[in-house]
Amino acid sequence: MPDLVTHTAAAYFLSRSRRFEQVRALFYLGALLPDLLARPIYILFPKLFFFTVAIHTPAFMIIVTLLFSEFFPGKSRSAAATWLFAGIMLHFMLDFFQRHLLTGYYWLFPFSWRSFELPLFWPETPVRFIPLWIALIAATEAALFLRKRRLTATHADGSP
Ligand SMILES: [Zn+2]
Repeated sequence: MPDLVTHTAAAYFLSRSRRFEQVRALFYLGALLPDLLARPIYILFPKLFFFTVAIHTPAFMIIVTLLFSEFFPGKSRSAAATWLFAGIMLHFMLDFFQRHLLTGYYWLFPFSWRSFELPLFWPETPVRFIPLWIALIAATEAALFLRKRRLTATHADGSP
């Protein structure tokens, strides 16, 4: 599991486009949701680990997505489910590249107890990059703020 800051940073950089404005919050939530649901249980009840591994699986997250989207009315329901699940898949994609000492994530649960991954980094590796992610996000937000301010100042004199 990359840390939550890394998951958030990935969601941030992938959703900067204006077309994400309406769904960005759902995308962010999805990018964090597997760990937000699973980790507290692992931490509070470590002996229940093998009973709760199903929480951090695509199958469980599909169920969560479908239940969550029921809170949205009519036409917005499918969009809510789509963008929440897109964030969840981003989360799982980052997790897929993590090494594990023992068993990894059960991507095909409940059809298989086989665990597999593309082991590119250890869990603590992304933590080293947190200052970089925060600096890049701050620089991006500062650049966007200055650009918006410049555009506002340009049009303040009544020019189109
Ligand atoms: Zn995770």
